[in-house]
Amino acid sequence: MSDLTRLEDALQTVLAAVSVLGAEKVGLLDAPGRVLAEDIIAERDHPPWDNSAMDGFAVRHEDIARDPAQIVLTIIENVPAGTVPAKVVGKGEAVRIMTGAPIPAGADTVLKVEDTAQTPTSVTVFKNEPKGAYIRPQGGDVRKGDCIMPRGTIIRPAEAAMLAMLAKSFVFVSQRPRVAILSTGDELADLDERCGEEKIVNANSYGIAAAVQEAGGLPMLLGIARDNPEDLKAKISRGRHADVLVLSGGVSMGEYDFTKPVLQELGGEMHFWKLAIRPGQPVAFGTIGRTLAFGLPGNPVSSLVTFEQLVRPAILKLCGSQVLTRPVVRARFQETFSKRPDRRHFLRGILWMENGTLMVRTTGSQGSGILTSMVKANGLIDIPVEAETLKPGDVVNVQVLGGWC
Ligand code: AMP
Ligand code: MG
Repeated sequence: MSDLTRLEDALQTVLAAVSVLGAEKVGLLDAPGRVLAEDIIAERDHPPWDNSAMDGFAVRHEDIARDPAQIVLTIIENVPAGTVPAKVVGKGEAVRIMTGAPIPAGADTVLKVEDTAQTPTSVTVFKNEPKGAYIRPQGGDVRKGDCIMPRGTIIRPAEAAMLAMLAKSFVFVSQRPRVAILSTGDELADLDERCGEEKIVNANSYGIAAAVQEAGGLPMLLGIARDNPEDLKAKISRGRHADVLVLSGGVSMGEYDFTKPVLQELGGEMHFWKLAIRPGQPVAFGTIGRTLAFGLPGNPVSSLVTFEQLVRPAILKLCGSQVLTRPVVRARFQETFSKRPDRRHFLRGILWMENGTLMVRTTGSQGSGILTSMVKANGLIDIPVEAETLKPGDVVNVQVLGGWC
């Protein structure tokens, strides 16, 4: 246990080595999924003027405040959306108004069309409304000068709509980190190779590339390095100018595991190489100049789980995001489970809601080579280092994976 680094400490070490990348200007259609590198300040109020929330009539409240409310008002003007009222509403008068149109001077209340009867020149009011009804006030959404979205905000559909509303056709976002991905192993064949019985298809490069993209990075595949120091060194060198280098395989204590010495030989400073977690005890992290280098375990599940815990937060921080972790929910565990109190475990889990309570069970076999355990999962059940047994009904933390619906 003593030579194993705790995940919390490892994450701190990684994040301390990360600084946010520079900014670039992108068009609004290219902005979704990116992270704002500027504070967005409103340059005008929105709505820009008091406007109607309904199709109906803009009136003076004092004209309709009487009971019984069967009052006839004279229509002096029509104001469709996109036009500006020209007249002032006087005593006994009304303006026919459409949703979104500016409230004419003199009026202080809007009546819904369905609560009235109308002729081309007059309107009969059947229902009273409180003063100010159905008026959306100027600046009710956004006030000029306010910071509406701070730098570090991820641009989702809502933020894209807000940027458009604020007339921002271009925004500054953080650059996307370039992430070089290299799989290692003599047993691996790539997708475009003939794959004999003795070969395993390189799954990790594609799983990691997808995870990089999901986190906002730009994956670059360096292919497969064979289990010898020369090939590993040559292939790693191609990724030296990336912001992040992710290797999979070859970090355990096996006879052919050269990742750590080769990274050191290339001038890398190693920060840790064994974590107190399962799956994924052998995880190396070093820095070669400005490049962050991760050596993840070769088992496909271990590589994805350790990516989630360490590489994803690093990519998000490089992107300038304020949020570096997945949402964590508390759910009731539905099984029994036991372990030694020496590592933090991440079980692949299925979350669901039952009678208002969030439940979670494992996806079945939890071996680190069982990729179906990851395919079925919508969450990672996070079991602390010290925990030993779990029984049905115990409350556990679950990291919610992307795409849960
Ligand atoms: P290693 O960490 O290199 O000892 O690999 C552990 C296990 O993961 C072995 O069974 C490997 O065959 C498998 N493995 C390693 N790299 C990959 C990869 N890129 N894709 C799929 N399986 C892999
Ligand atoms: Mg290997």
